[in-house]
Amino acid sequence: MKIICVGRNYADHIKELENQRPENPVLFLKPDSSLILKNRPFFIPEFSDEIHYEIELIIKISRIGKHIQRKFSHKYYNFIGLGIDFTARDLQSQLKKSGLPWEKSKAFDGSCFVSDWINLSEIEDLNNINFRLELNKNVVQNSNTSLMLWKVDELISYISKYFTLKIGDIIFTGTPSGVGKVSVGDELVGYLEEKKLFNLKVK
Ligand code: ZN
Repeated sequence: MKIICVGRNYADHIKELENQRPENPVLFLKPDSSLILKNRPFFIPEFSDEIHYEIELIIKISRIGKHIQRKFSHKYYNFIGLGIDFTARDLQSQLKKSGLPWEKSKAFDGSCFVSDWINLSEIEDLNNINFRLELNKNVVQNSNTSLMLWKVDELISYISKYFTLKIGDIIFTGTPSGVGKVSVGDELVGYLEEKKLFNLKVK
């Protein structure tokens, strides 16, 4: 399986990192080795002094597809959840400045956290879901999927022009504003509407 991530999909987050608003979705990949195993904490890697959390709505692909038309995108997923795209921001800034690929800062071991999954049948409107992240019981990110620049179905269509989607692939749909640093001992808790989807310790 592969993990496809979308960058710069919320205007407020583009602003906070002083990035340019892209013409098309910004895509990057994480390998399966980046996944945090079930019930394991996030371990801060020794090569970074500035690991950021980024909470994101995530989609699990349920059917193989390529060149998917937007009107058919909804047939390719059944489950959604929340993920954290852990980012070594110090390293990413250096790489961006040098015009180099981001992988070391975004795709390292443990950089990908995936919550439990929710069946789409339980969701009223995918394009109007509140979700939030709490860091040590303080709300740090709080947004709604209606604020995405490219909605889920548009993303699936766009991504599948470049990458064949396979069963079990996961799409990270981008983070809203409020990203920040994690430290040893922190606890991250994610909510989709009022449903607590995960609880993750930082070590
Ligand atoms: Zn992200």
